Formats: sequence, C-alpha cells, structure tokens
Amino acid sequence: MMSPDEHNPGESLETLDWGPAVESAEEARSWIEQSGTQPAHFIGGEWSAPAAAKRFSSRCPATGEALRDVLQGSSEDVDRAVQAARTALPTWQAMGPDGRARCLYAIARNIQKESRLFAVVESLDNGKPIRETRDLDIPLVVRHFYHHAGAAQLLDETDPGAEPWGVCGQIIPWNFPLLMLAWKIAPALACGNTVVLKPAEWTSLSALLFAETCQKAGLPDGVINIVTGDGETGAAIVAHPDIDKVAFTGSTEVGRIIREATAGSGKGLTLELGGKSPYIIFEDSDIDSAVEGLVDAIWFNQGQVCCAGSRMLVQESISDEVHRKVEERMSRLRVGNPLDKAIDIGAMVEEKHRDQVAAMCERAKGEGITCIQPPIDLPKQGYWFPPTLFRDAPLSSEIASQEVFGPVLVSTTFRTPQEAVKIANHSRYGLAASIWSQDIDTALDVARKVEAGTVWVNGTNMFDASSGFGGMKESGFGREGGREGLRAYLRDVKPMTPTDGDTSATGGIVNSTSTDPALDRTAKLYIGGKQVRPDGGYCFEVQSPSGELLGLAARSNRKDVRNAVEASHRSKWGSMTGHARAQVLWFIAENLEPRSDDLAQLIDQMTGCGAAKAREEVQQSVAGWTWWASWADKHDGAVHDTPWRGLVLAVHEPFGTAGVICPQQNPLLGLVALCAPLLATGNSVIAIPSTAALAAVEMCRIIEHSDLPAGALNLLTGDAAEIGPVLAGHDDVDLLWHVSDEPLARELEAVSAGNMKVCWRPGELSDRSRRMLDRGTQVKNIWLPHGI
Ligand code: NDP
Repeated sequence: MMSPDEHNPGESLETLDWGPAVESAEEARSWIEQSGTQPAHFIGGEWSAPAAAKRFSSRCPATGEALRDVLQGSSEDVDRAVQAARTALPTWQAMGPDGRARCLYAIARNIQKESRLFAVVESLDNGKPIRETRDLDIPLVVRHFYHHAGAAQLLDETDPGAEPWGVCGQIIPWNFPLLMLAWKIAPALACGNTVVLKPAEWTSLSALLFAETCQKAGLPDGVINIVTGDGETGAAIVAHPDIDKVAFTGSTEVGRIIREATAGSGKGLTLELGGKSPYIIFEDSDIDSAVEGLVDAIWFNQGQVCCAGSRMLVQESISDEVHRKVEERMSRLRVGNPLDKAIDIGAMVEEKHRDQVAAMCERAKGEGITCIQPPIDLPKQGYWFPPTLFRDAPLSSEIASQEVFGPVLVSTTFRTPQEAVKIANHSRYGLAASIWSQDIDTALDVARKVEAGTVWVNGTNMFDASSGFGGMKESGFGREGGREGLRAYLRDVKPMTPTDGDTSATGGIVNSTSTDPALDRTAKLYIGGKQVRPDGGYCFEVQSPSGELLGLAARSNRKDVRNAVEASHRSKWGSMTGHARAQVLWFIAENLEPRSDDLAQLIDQMTGCGAAKAREEVQQSVAGWTWWASWADKHDGAVHDTPWRGLVLAVHEPFGTAGVICPQQNPLLGLVALCAPLLATGNSVIAIPSTAALAAVEMCRIIEHSDLPAGALNLLTGDAAEIGPVLAGHDDVDLLWHVSDEPLARELEAVSAGNMKVCWRPGELSDRSRRMLDRGTQVKNIWLPHGI
C-alpha cells in the first residue's frame, strides 16, 4: 500500500483512493517562528525569560523537526508565578461572578476566532490529525470556557457562600494539550481561583498561544501563569508551600508521587490518571456500529487517550465475525501527515514514547500472543506506529493489563454478561467503559456493574463540560466537568483536629495491667456483625479524666484490620436499596434512644463533660442516625444536558469500603456523625473510635440488634496511630475519612497512595450538609445516546 506522502493524483482517479487534503500550516508556522524568537514563561501578565534559563526543543512528531525552543522552568520561576497568582487573587475575586463570567466568555470567543490557528499549532506540536484538533479538541475547549462562564455567573446561586481554594497548581499531559488546559483552567477561574499551569514538556505551544489569548481577552495580570518545563518543574509546583490546590492529569505513577508529596499538607488534590478501559461487545449489538466505534475508541489520537477502549471484550458467539470486521477495518486505516484532513492516524507524540509502545508490543509477541498489524507503509520521517491488535491476550499478560498509551488493542472473549463484568473489572484502573448491546436490560445492568467513572452505552469518547469525567480505583479521584468538577475548585472544610470538640481531652492508650471484675465485661471488637476477641489478645484501659478505671477496650492489630476489610467486602449493605438502608438506620436510632441515660452517664464518666453535655451528645447521635437515614433514599444523581443527542445519567455510587478515624472527643457523636452518612450512601465502614471507646462499643452492641447486615459497620478499638496507617494502606479499602493531627495525616495520606484511595478530613461533627453525602459517593456518568 502506498503511503499518503507518496501521492499520485492519476492513480487516485483509478483506485478511487483518497487524495491528500492538506491544511495549510503557514499561519501556524509564522506564529511559532515569531513566538519562538524569545522563548519565555507567561508570569504576571508578562513574558518572562530569565537570562540563565535552560531550553529544550519542542518537536513536530510527524517530521522530527525542531519547531521552536521552550524554557525549562526552575523553582525560582515557579515561585515568581505563584507570587504573581497570589497577588492577582484579590483583584480577580473582587470582580465577582459577573466579571469573571465575562472574562471566561471573552476567552471562549477569542479561541473561537482563532480556532484554526489553535488546531494547526496543536497538530504540528502533538502529531494528532487535524480532523481531531479541528473537530473535537478545539470545539470542546471552547464549549468548556462557555459552560464555565455560565458556571461563574451562577456560582452564588449554585454554591452560596463557597470560597475558592486560592492559588491552584495545575499539571497536564501531552495527549490533549489544550483540552486538558481548558478542563483545568475554566473551572478554576469560574470559582475565583488563580492558576499556575505547567504544560507537558513535549507539547507546550498551544498553552503559550493560549496565554496570548488571555491577554487579548483582557484577563487581569497574574490570574493565569504558564511555566513551561519538565517533570522537575511540575514537582516544584506540587511542593510550593503557597499553592492551595494541586490538579494533575497524567500517569498513575506520577499521580502516586504527587499523592505522597502532598500528604498531610492540607492542599486540595484531584488526580486524573491512566486507564485500561474495556470495550464490551454483546452478541445482540449492532456489530457494524460497534466496530466503527472501536476505531474511534482505540485509534483516535493514536490510542494516546486515557480512556481509550484498549481492551475489547467480545461475546464468544460473534467473536470471529467481529475480529474479521475489525481486521478488515484496520487494513483501511490511513496513517500519515496529521495536517491531511483525510488521515485517520497521525504521528506518535515522541520517538521515546513510540519506542516504549513498540517495546511493549515486542514483549507481547515474545510471549506468543497473536499480533495483527495491517501492511501499512509508514512515513519515513517522524514517529509512527501502525494500528495493532493482540488477539486472545491472556488477562494477566503485560499487554492486556498495563496501559500501552498507543494504537494497540487487545482482545478477549466472554460467554455471559456476568463474565464480561468480571473481566472488565479485572483491572487496577477504572476510568471508562463502552458497552454495546441493543438490549436495554443488558446494557444498563452492565453499566451499573462496571467499575468506571464514565460508561458509554453504544458509543465511545463522548465528552462535555456539563458532565463530569474522571476515574475510580487507580485511575484517580475527582472529576473534571460537571458540578462535581466545579466544586473541586471550591475550598474544602477546615479539617477537624483529633481534640476539637465540646469536651475536655481524654487520655490516649493505657495498657491494661489488670482487669476489674466489678465491670464483668469482655473487651471485644465488632467485626462481621459479631463481637470478636482481638487477634493480639491485648486490651487497654479506658479511664476517667481523673484516672479512674472505667473499663477495658480491645486493642486491635493489623490482623484485625484485615479481618474487618474482608467482612466489609462480604457485606450485602452496598447492594441494598436506599429505602432498605433508611429503615435500618432509623431502627438503630430507635434502639439507641432508650439507652440515652446510661450512655450519657458513660460519656460523662469518660470525658468529664458534665451530664447536660453528655445527654446532648446522645441526643445529637440519635438525631444523626435519623438525619442520615432520611437521606439514604434521597441523594439522587442528575441527568445532564449535553449538546449530544441522548441522556447522560450521573449516578451516585458508594465507594465500597470506607475507613474512618474518629475524633478523640465526643466518643459517641464522633462515631455516629462520620459513619452514618457513609452508611446512608451505601458504603461499608471500618471505624476506629476515640480511645474513650466504651460508648462506641455500646453503640455496636445496639447495632448488633438493629438489623444492620454483617460487615456493614466494623469497629476496631485501639490506637489510631498504630492501626490507622494499616487501614489507610490496605488496598481493599476505597475511601478514608480521618480526623488526625498533622504527622498522622501525613502518614495516612502517604500510605493511601498504594491504591490511590480518596482521603478526606471532615470539618465539624455538626456538619449535616449534602457535602457529607457527596464525600461518600462517586459519580458515574452513563452516556445513553439514542435516536431512530
Ligand atoms: P506523565 O504522568 O508522565 O506526565 C504528566 C505531567 O506531569 C507532565 O506535565 C509531566 O511533565 C509532569 N510530571 C512528570 N513528573 C512529575 C513530577 N514528579 N511531579 C509533578 N509533575 C510531573 O503523563 P504523560 O504526560 O505521559 O501523559 C500520559 C498519561 O496521562 C497516561 O497515563 C494517561 O492515561 C494520563 N491521562 C489521563 C487523563 C484523565 O483524564 N484521566 C487524560 C489524559 C491523560 P513532562 O511531561 O513535561 O515531563
């Protein structure tokens, strides 16, 4: 087959093959040349180029030529940018929702006016086909700024009293350079934040062009600052003490480093990470549409897409037919000059990346996995890789389980919908999924069961500013777009510290030296719906503030943590309806209330808070159960209005297993106020209560007789500093709410990076806002395009 570079018009007429339709690069090249004469960062509204700055070249992947130089940002540059962003904050915030909306609107308009220039610059710098930059990247960028102009305007209405974080550090990858910039900058500005953004080393040019657009749009100086550079520049942004929130899109590996680096700092954090998304084709699907969708799912942007449908799961009965059609379609894909409008696959972003993809494919071939690559002549210069399929790749193979980030598809078969779900979820990632079936029951049932932040039914790669996008599991946390994406740029609650509260401090763990026969109680944990002895066989004393022994509590160890996690995973709580969960939580309140007097007495003895405050704490705890019971069937999702024809269902789902480290104070309310909202939203909970643990133990005795299914709530009494990190580091715990001092917070959040679990530090025990429910749920967006 002839490469599109070697076009012969006469032959085209005979073969009816595509002729070249190459977009002019003249204007883009002239902008690149002129802007590259003096490479600079964009800081405080000015172009800034320190004399000693190091430089590197930004290359055109389609030819390998150097386009222009870009500066390597130092930590001093980052510092200047952060200062400029800090200085700009008061002006920007004083402009109010209306003023900020006007600026965002002006940015949208200005990008639109120069949309072709942006599209060509992006294609030259990144290697992606102009068809994609022109028809998808840039229109989505514009839509994002328009949508968030509206979001800025309405902020006082939608989120009254909410405050922005302040200065946001934003780090983006190279695969959708301008789109990722828009996803980050638009909501940040809408909420009144200022920004320091670092584009990826390989693709900085569209961000620099965007900085010019901000100047034209009249954005106040310092609201947007762009510092170019590599990973070290990114690390300097993350580490800067005056950054309030970090927003990162990139690989799970770097996301993990950033999670560890920000642990305990109190900085806001959202991580949009990698994926290995399943593309599931059922036997009752429209097969031709599914195959055409697949082309978009895996070969769009050379497969360098976080949510690429890189794992094709085909029902066994149609496997041969689907594979035949896929191979046939692969052979007709056109690889070549990204500026040619009739090209399907452009250039890989960089030689190094292309070589990594090639090496991964060689290893898969070495493992004996069948590799299919059509005989496409690749252009001689630049970085290219052909569309590739590995058929029937074992699930545990590297090629089937790791993100390739290239035009490489793996396929496997399944027999039943249950098996399809099992294979789909057999991944550390949970970013997206596509489901192809004409049967609405199958499609929606599987959509609810796959672990992914975005699910497309009979479609793929649909995005919109009104609908959140982001991952589950090791694909990160937080959403971009939608209401939840906007709220990620509003300041979080001020975290509670372990000793905040109404009452005086109680002591820490005192190892038991004796048992007190008068109390006649065995100190036990509550795991899997049963009172169980602690694995280690140790207890600790719970004393009054004056040192009087009040009782013993079991001292948990890491084995108890593991048992509790297993029990929580076996629990059927998450599959119960909101209505059923509400009944149980009401019943707990009903059974707690008659015990008010003795629990109040116990609280008073443990904390010395006085009878009235202790009674108040019990009343608040009863009210907490009824409050969150009332919400259990009401924390609905939404249906989004996107420009696409169809519905987008934003469904609220529990995270799964939540760890809770309760405050030291308010030993009963501290447990109820944090566990009840998590239970209401369908999570199973493992709680470490205050060391004044006797009230929490009593609460679990009440719960034992309140129809809460086994494993839904597990209580591990003991030392939070000892078992908290075990809970935080457990890979089968999906969420951690912790009330901890700074050293413990740092440790908990650092070890949580193992499975990238979401960590949150609650604000006040009196918080009964919807925020608590939002923090206990993740949003899955199910796209249902339709039309007859
Ligand atoms: P990387 O994680 O390598 O880099 C992402 C950004 O982080 C780049 O700007 C990079 O700088 C910077 N960086 C690198 N090291 C550090 C560090 N230690 N501290 C701070 N910043 C750092 O990802 P890629 O650029 O290779 O992008 C591909 C990845 O992005 C894929 O895994 C893909 O799945 C994911 N992605 C996820 C999306 C989502 O929404 N979930 C969307 C798009 C991509 P530099 O490149 O200049 O060295």
